[in-house]
Amino acid sequence: MAVTTVAADDLRNSYISSIGGRPLSGFTKPLARLIDQFERLPGIGPRTAQRLALHLLNQPEEQIHQFADALLAARTQVGQCQICFHLSADPECEICRNPERHNGVICVVADSRDLLALERTREFKGRYHVLGGLISPMDGIGPELLHVTELVQRITNEEVSEVILALTPSVEGDTTSLYLGRLLKPFCSVSRIAYGLPMGSELEYADEVTLSRALEGRRPI
Ligand SMILES: [Zn+2]
Repeated sequence: MAVTTVAADDLRNSYISSIGGRPLSGFTKPLARLIDQFERLPGIGPRTAQRLALHLLNQPEEQIHQFADALLAARTQVGQCQICFHLSADPECEICRNPERHNGVICVVADSRDLLALERTREFKGRYHVLGGLISPMDGIGPELLHVTELVQRITNEEVSEVILALTPSVEGDTTSLYLGRLLKPFCSVSRIAYGLPMGSELEYADEVTLSRALEGRRPI
């Protein structure tokens, strides 16, 4: 009798009624935990989280191990390139190491997502510099928190003739472009991509044609 009672209690306890304040009835605890983890990801709602979790549950165990390994390896092995601050597993990223990329032109982006968006256009053959954000006085982010000093050093060390600012058309993007324009003009020509990008649009979501045109139609500042 006692054994039956314990087993029933265990079963009841293994089904939880809510996670993070949200009701999740009918899911066993490990599955609810997995769904909760997916829901923390950007752009994933409760239904998608459920679908992904249930899909994984149906995969062979080997596949799950590979998934978990890839997740951990990416987290532990990917750092920043010492030169351009793009994501890299090596001290220098593939773009900085590539001898076929042109020296002398640096495209400045806010983060690696924007760099990847520009790479998809296959239009730009120069080097990049990832700032690590945009100047935002409202959020207390000044140039000293971004990789600006390193950019100035590169411009003098690498004999850079042109800097292309590929920053989002937003208040922060405009502030940063204005600041960098003034700072860098004594050293090289500075232009900013413009054409076709509406105010406030995120660079990473722009399609390749729009982004190619924006790059071609850059204007000196
Ligand atoms: Zn690099």
